[in-house]
Amino acid sequence: MHVTIFGTGYVGLVSGTCLAEVGHDVVCVDIDQRKIDGLEAGVIPIYEPGLEPMVRANHAAGRLKFTTDAAAAIAASEVVFIAVGTPPDEDGSADLQYVLAVARTIGRHLQAPAIVVDKSTVPVGTADKVRDAIAAELAARGVDIAFDVVSNPEFLKEGAAVEDCMRPDRIVLGTSSPASIERLRRLYAPFNRNHDRIVAMDVRSAELTKYAANAMLATKISFMNEIAGIAEKVGADIEQVRKGIGSDPRIGWHFIYPGAGYGGSCFPKDVQALARTAVQHGHEPTLLDAVESVNDRQKRHLFELAVRHYGGAAALRGKTIALWGLAFKPNTDDMREASSRRLVQQLWDAGARVRAYDPEAREEARRIFGDRDDLVLCDSAGDALQGADALVVITEWKQFRSPDFAQIRARLGDGVLFDGRNLYEPADVEAAGIAYWGIGRGRSI
Ligand code: NAD
Repeated sequence: MHVTIFGTGYVGLVSGTCLAEVGHDVVCVDIDQRKIDGLEAGVIPIYEPGLEPMVRANHAAGRLKFTTDAAAAIAASEVVFIAVGTPPDEDGSADLQYVLAVARTIGRHLQAPAIVVDKSTVPVGTADKVRDAIAAELAARGVDIAFDVVSNPEFLKEGAAVEDCMRPDRIVLGTSSPASIERLRRLYAPFNRNHDRIVAMDVRSAELTKYAANAMLATKISFMNEIAGIAEKVGADIEQVRKGIGSDPRIGWHFIYPGAGYGGSCFPKDVQALARTAVQHGHEPTLLDAVESVNDRQKRHLFELAVRHYGGAAALRGKTIALWGLAFKPNTDDMREASSRRLVQQLWDAGARVRAYDPEAREEARRIFGDRDDLVLCDSAGDALQGADALVVITEWKQFRSPDFAQIRARLGDGVLFDGRNLYEPADVEAAGIAYWGIGRGRSI
């Protein structure tokens, strides 16, 4: 099938590439000329495992094209995806300006009947707005072309996006048109062979499903962080508690890790946007507000542990802190809303310097932080320890899991480790003569 995808970010580029991989003819449109030029030249703007060779192969095979020419792309497509960003507005609600700009573009250039598929995460009611925007442009042109707007929220995880896209858990399609479901069923058939993953529903339920999924996951994290806070106070170890509850199949092992707070481009903005939707419709989002405020507190927690260890924030002045990890989670270079950003700012405010290492987010960190005297972006985990007083681990990259604690002790001036993801056994760290601070580990009161 001939497909156009608006937006070549994490969702658009990965979805477009996977659709091309199974044989569809895909054109990816972006307004960022540099991104498109780069992609045409084989430069992949994001880090996502497995993506680069797949983009190159499908581009070389002629099934995956990149352009800024929206008109030509729309004219040749039977399915048009919207996969542009929906960042938070000032009041936390989703900013729909990019989505609606694409809708107007579609209306201006549509030549033949098509299905418009919304993959961006958008508040309930957005499909109606997209439909109205397209219809207004068609009316202005004085043409009548049939189109349907379908909500098809994306559930891929950064860091495993290609894998998730090739093997989705479910494919949610929100529309009242059986014909659209049938067409999209054909589009997704190669991903749907093993068993039927298509969950068809009305458009509003589909829009809400995406927010419900992310809000549930964020709630699990904040719940564990809440219990971790209690564990710390009462002298219990959250890691023991985690094992104790995860074995209950009603609770399960997934997503019950305490840590330095959730970040990324989705959970923070989606929890906020859902809360805004609730308020706008007269429903008080008590739980969602709590999920957010627990996360906000959690993002400040590592710094508070450092203050406790040093006996006050003033003692951090002039210290050099090694930071392992910058990305909001492993296997991505994405630093949007990353907990590292809050911590680095707090350390700078206290007069400390930072030596940071992240396997993939170095360029992103350079773009975000710029050149500063109090930040060194290092080439390796060991390099970050050079001349450092303390170590903070904030992203659970696999390569940080089994370090040589004796070497760490030898390099750290103050011999203290703050484990923001509970990667280590406190006893192993302490055996090397390093003071250990984790999240919710009551031993560290
Ligand atoms: P992104 O910021 O990485 O990419 C968005 C892209 O859209 C950019 O390249 C931008 O230049 C382009 N764009 C903006 N306006 C455009 C226009 N008028 N025409 C063409 N291109 C345009 O965003 P993302 O992370 O891929 O997220 C996209 C949407 O998918 C968001 O709504 C997000 O909430 C949702 N989502 C994201 C993820 C994720 O893990 N990143 C997962 C599921 C859903």
